[in-house]
Amino acid sequence: MIIEPKIKGFLCTTAHPEGCKVEIARQIEQIQAGGKIDQVPQRVLVIGASGGYGLATRIAAAFGGGAKTMGVFFERPAQKGRTASPGWYKAAAFASAAADAGLYAQHFNGDAFSKEMKTAVIERILADWGQVDMVVYSLAAPARTLASGETVRSVLKPIGSAFSGATIDFKTQEMRSLALEPASEAEIAATVKVMGGEDWEDWIEQLESANCLSEGCLTTNYTYLGSEVTWPIYYHGTIGRAKEDLDRAAGAINERLRGNGGRADVIVMKGLLTQAASAIPGMSVYLSLLFKAMKAAGTHEGCLEQVERLFRTQLFQTNQRRDGAGRIRMDDWELSEEIQAYVKSHWNEITQENLDQLADFAAYREAFLNLHGFEVEGVDYDVEQNPDVPLALAFG
Ligand code: NAD
Repeated sequence: MIIEPKIKGFLCTTAHPEGCKVEIARQIEQIQAGGKIDQVPQRVLVIGASGGYGLATRIAAAFGGGAKTMGVFFERPAQKGRTASPGWYKAAAFASAAADAGLYAQHFNGDAFSKEMKTAVIERILADWGQVDMVVYSLAAPARTLASGETVRSVLKPIGSAFSGATIDFKTQEMRSLALEPASEAEIAATVKVMGGEDWEDWIEQLESANCLSEGCLTTNYTYLGSEVTWPIYYHGTIGRAKEDLDRAAGAINERLRGNGGRADVIVMKGLLTQAASAIPGMSVYLSLLFKAMKAAGTHEGCLEQVERLFRTQLFQTNQRRDGAGRIRMDDWELSEEIQAYVKSHWNEITQENLDQLADFAAYREAFLNLHGFEVEGVDYDVEQNPDVPLALAFG
C-alpha cells in the first residue's frame, strides 16, 4: 500500500515503515560518526524505549557505547488496513540494526506499569545478564492501570487559575485560541500517579529485591522545566506537579541505592517535539518560536543530539552541571538569555499574519511528520509499503 500522513487534531494516525527505518539508520550513523562514547554502562534497561528521549538513549547506549540493551515500550503492530504505530516501526528498525551489528537487544511490548511486565524483564535480566548497570525511565503515558484494576488518567491542565493561549492547527496552519479551566484536586493527584515517580520507584524496588542492580547502578529519569511563558500550563500545571514528584522519588531511590554505591538522577532536557509533547496545549507556538531562535543561533538540538551531549559531557563525568535541586541540566541552551529574550518578546505578539516570520512552524510541522516516518530525506513515498513489519519480542 501507499502510506500517507492522516492527521486528526494533534495526532497522525498513520506511520511509514521505510521512513522510520531510514530515520533510525540516520541516527545510528550520526552517533557512530562522533566516535565511541566512553564509560557507558554495558547492561542498560530503557523503559519507554521506542520514541523520543528513551529511543535516543537506547541508540546512544548501544551504538555509541556498545551496550547491551533491553527496551520496554507500548506500541501497536499493524492490523488489517491500519499501519503500526511509529514506535513499532522504530523499535523494529533498532532491533534489526542491533542484530546486524551483533549487539544484544531484547524488546518487551506491553504495559510498563504492570506486575507482569516487571516480572518478565526481571526474569530476562536474571537469565541473560544477572544484573543491570543502568535503568533509564523515560515513560510518557496518558494513563496507568493500578494493581487494583482501576485506571487513572493524566491531564494537561493549569492549577489554580484558568489558562488562555494559542495553538496552531496542523492541517490548516491556523492559529486558534485555547482556554483551559484549572484542574481539580483529583485530576492533579491522577496526573502525579501516572507521570510522577511512583512507578520508577516500583521498578527499582523490584529490581533490587531480585538482586538485579549491579554495584554502582545508575538510574535516570527525564524532566522538563521550560520557559516562564509555558509555566502556567507546564511547570505550574498538573504535569509540573508530577515532575516535582520525580525529585522526591530520586531522593528516595538515592537512599535505597546508598548501600551499593548507585545513583538516581533527574535530568532536565530541552523542549522538543515528540509524540508526548505534541499533546501539550500551547506547545506548538512555543516550540515554533524556539526552533526559529535556536536554529538561528546554531544551537538547535533533537532528542539524539541532547542525549549525545548528555552522554559525552555530563552523565558519566565527575563534574556535572547540576542545579540547586541536584538535577543535571541539559536545557542550558534553551534557557540561555538570548533564546529566551526572543521567545518572550514574541510570545504575545504572534498572530496568523506574522507566524512565518517570527516562528518556524514549518520546522515544527516537519519534525511532527518525521516522527511518523514522513518527509524523511531519501525515502521514495511513491513506493508501495508492506505495513506488516516483524519484531521478535521477549514479551508481548
Ligand atoms: P515519547 O512519547 O516520545 O515516548 C514515550 C515512550 O513511552 C514510548 O516508548 C512509549 O511506547 C512508552 N510508553 C507509553 N506508555 C507506556 C506504557 N504504559 N508501558 C510501556 N511503555 C509506554 O515521549 P518523550 O517526549 O520522549 O518523553 C519521555 C520522557 O522525557 C518523559 O518523562 C517526558 O516528560 C520527558 N521529557 C520530554 C521532553 C519533550 O519536550 N519531549 C522534554 C523534557 C523531558
